[in-house]
Amino acid sequence: MDQQNDLMEKIVSLCKRRGFVFPGSEIYGGLANSYEYGPAGVELKKNITDAWWQFFVRSRPDMVGLDSSIILHPKVWEASGHVAGFADALIDCKSCKMRTRADHLIEEALPEMKVEGKSVEELTQIIQDRKIKCPNCGKFDWTAVRKFNLLFETHIGIVPEAQSQAYLRGETAQGIFVSFKNILDSTRVRLPFGVGQTGKSFRNEITKGNFIFRTLEFEQAEIEYFFDPKESNWQELFEQWKADMWKFVTEGLGVDKENLRWREHGDEERSFYSKRTEDLEYNFPFGFKELWGLAYRTDYDLQQHIKASGVDLSYTDPQSGKKIVPHVIEPAVGINRLMAMVLLDSYREEADRVYLALPPRLAPYKVAVFPLLANKPALVAKAKDIYQMLAPNFTTAWDDRGNVGKRYYSQDEIGTPFCVTVDFDTLGEGKDPALKDTVTVRDRDSKEQIRIKIEELKSYLTNKLI
Ligand code: ATP
Repeated sequence: MDQQNDLMEKIVSLCKRRGFVFPGSEIYGGLANSYEYGPAGVELKKNITDAWWQFFVRSRPDMVGLDSSIILHPKVWEASGHVAGFADALIDCKSCKMRTRADHLIEEALPEMKVEGKSVEELTQIIQDRKIKCPNCGKFDWTAVRKFNLLFETHIGIVPEAQSQAYLRGETAQGIFVSFKNILDSTRVRLPFGVGQTGKSFRNEITKGNFIFRTLEFEQAEIEYFFDPKESNWQELFEQWKADMWKFVTEGLGVDKENLRWREHGDEERSFYSKRTEDLEYNFPFGFKELWGLAYRTDYDLQQHIKASGVDLSYTDPQSGKKIVPHVIEPAVGINRLMAMVLLDSYREEADRVYLALPPRLAPYKVAVFPLLANKPALVAKAKDIYQMLAPNFTTAWDDRGNVGKRYYSQDEIGTPFCVTVDFDTLGEGKDPALKDTVTVRDRDSKEQIRIKIEELKSYLTNKLI
């Protein structure tokens, strides 16, 4: 097994063992490409979402937030082009029945070839000409390539005859365009400004099981940044967004710059309405892959919704009274993909332990509290008091199983930056009476242990966790 696959397997197994990510619907035999986020995973995912929201929405005067519906009017998806064009090209192996994405099949067999934007006929031709074999059974016996729409269909209404078709949203971005007028009318936003939103999106993906990299449902964090192309230089805005995304990933999420790169889409790959698209890619164990897309989408989406809804979605400049339909730059990322990256990037192995070097603000638990021995009521009671003191301010874990060494080991694996142990010295029953009301604080990264007064614990942790 090569080192990279090995890393992926280690992460998948750590995630299950320590409660980050479980296989979806496991007791029913599993549901492909779906996952459950366990007690540690839900905290990590939430912390990543909060960090994104803080960085891109709350700390910027030119940004506001939104939480739109998962089920929007079906006309939204017709106007946006998703009903007609949001499709993957699939191919089936007639011999072993494996279904796969034609673009992935080609790109894996011929890594030098970029096939985005190619028609189904062109894809079929490449597979035939280059005699690409089924990676599952080794045969060369394919159906023609066909397009399948990725939108999840659902129905509104309970009486079958009166049901109307609807879709679970395939991206959060369209909700922003739909609410654009209401945002203008209800706030004092002035161009250029952005609207950010996070929430679930759904895509009927055929995937290759790259863990939580690509799943049927996932959480997106998307921004539409609106501007007047006559007043703002789009190239400069684009560069600024690139810099902000880079800063968030490297400084906010603590990811190694060496594992990141930008890739610009060529003319064939870019959507016809986009003037420039770049992907921020991360070096996943299965290669550099899109983490975060950045696209200049012109005024395409607003114009489509103006045409389809008949509603005026233009912006009126408060000074000049001039009306324009703003253009947008769209940074779009999946929180789950960010989480996969953060887990992979923070994984460390040492001779005697494994730990996640997570930035403290992302760690599921900031601190863990242990009584030295679980069968000594006085130690347990004191440790519980400390737990109660810390829990309102820091996400705090409690562990009284096994010995302290084992507890360190398991907290290291979930990336807890500090562990606090209550021992006999704390109770004033040790050798040194001066140690009464002090605890041992152990640092995850250095493994160093220091003695701290209980009354100073909160301020010590606050300073360390900033
Ligand atoms: P890909 O080429 O990987 O399918 P995309 O170009 O279709 O992605 P966008 O529509 O630009 O993706 O979505 C924006 C972001 O949402 C992606 O960069 C990715 O982080 C995330 N994303 C998209 N699809 C999925 C999915 N099925 N599972 C998890 N995250 C996803």
